[in-house]
Amino acid sequence: MRKINFFQKIMKVIINCDGITKKDLAKELDFTTAGITKIVNELIELKLIKEKTYAESTGGRKPIILGLNEKKIGEILGVNLAPKSIELSISDINGKNFRSNIINIDEKMNIFVILEKNIEKLLKENPKIKIISFVLNGLVDSQNGISIFSPHYNWKNLNLKKYYEEKFNIPVVVENDVRAMALAEKIFGNCKKNKDFVVLNISEGIGCSLYINDILYYGSGFISGEIGHIVIDKNSNQRCSCGRYGCFESEISTLSLINKLKIIFPNEGHINMAWIIENIKSKNLEVLKVIDEVIKKMTIGIDMIISIINPEKIMIVGELFKEKIMLKKLIKNVGEVVLEEQKCEIIKSKFQENIGIYSAVALVNYNIFTDEKLLKKILKF
Ligand SMILES: [Zn+2]
Repeated sequence: MRKINFFQKIMKVIINCDGITKKDLAKELDFTTAGITKIVNELIELKLIKEKTYAESTGGRKPIILGLNEKKIGEILGVNLAPKSIELSISDINGKNFRSNIINIDEKMNIFVILEKNIEKLLKENPKIKIISFVLNGLVDSQNGISIFSPHYNWKNLNLKKYYEEKFNIPVVVENDVRAMALAEKIFGNCKKNKDFVVLNISEGIGCSLYINDILYYGSGFISGEIGHIVIDKNSNQRCSCGRYGCFESEISTLSLINKLKIIFPNEGHINMAWIIENIKSKNLEVLKVIDEVIKKMTIGIDMIISIINPEKIMIVGELFKEKIMLKKLIKNVGEVVLEEQKCEIIKSKFQENIGIYSAVALVNYNIFTDEKLLKKILKF
């Protein structure tokens, strides 16, 4: 194996294990401790990794563990482009967040202009930023850094990577938001040890991402996981952001849920997620009836995922699942339709509001471990 690929392999194991001793690293990579020590010393000299705090010891001398050198890799500007907001965050490669700022947006605004202005300001103020990580809604060609189609922003074939790399002379990585969530689960979350899992995002939009055979799955045209636009009710009068009627997204997203409740409760001034959660807690029967309908439709989607992919876990992301009763209802409904043999854990993601920040950092991690050119660029060797 070429040296740089081996460097990447070592760095990947170090972050997956939250730090590791040389001895365990050798075991993990099926190498001799002497062989690993030689290459680790080279990585330490390059300041790519560092020896840090002591690991738990069973007695005797405490072993030294290895961690990524966040200072050498520099800071990451995370740009999370959601349907109704943009989040800009600054973090290090280990996921430590220094600041984040959310800008609420609407369709009248020129999102591209707002974005550029804010990115320029942050890059000027923070010279430690070494890379920009875009995580965005819609169809994304992550290899070339292109937003193929964002129905929420009305973007088509917008090359974010080329534009920002040329404008600010800084490496840029770009990924679909839900695929980046799978990376966050794999690198920082509850799927570190899983090889087959699915992330299902049930928020303002609906989408899923697939981690299969320990690899993030893209599909032939980077369009895998678009479960939100499967039409489940052709006769529905709910128009979807894609222009069709009765898609999963227009039937079960939080935006559609809010719209349905506004019709049922026309005199309620402001129906938002906080209002919905409050009414679920107080067991408002009319609200629960709508919720039960939505859960039934979610169950159809989850049944499809389990039957086609056969994952170990499905990680659910979404504000609606802040309330334990929601996940309970969902698990019960799914249990009634899947076969006993189709074992699959349905778990709420440990990330909630901070998912965008971790997704942006995990995307950089993943690219450093897989893209040789990017690693060389960031580290300048
Ligand atoms: Zn649709």
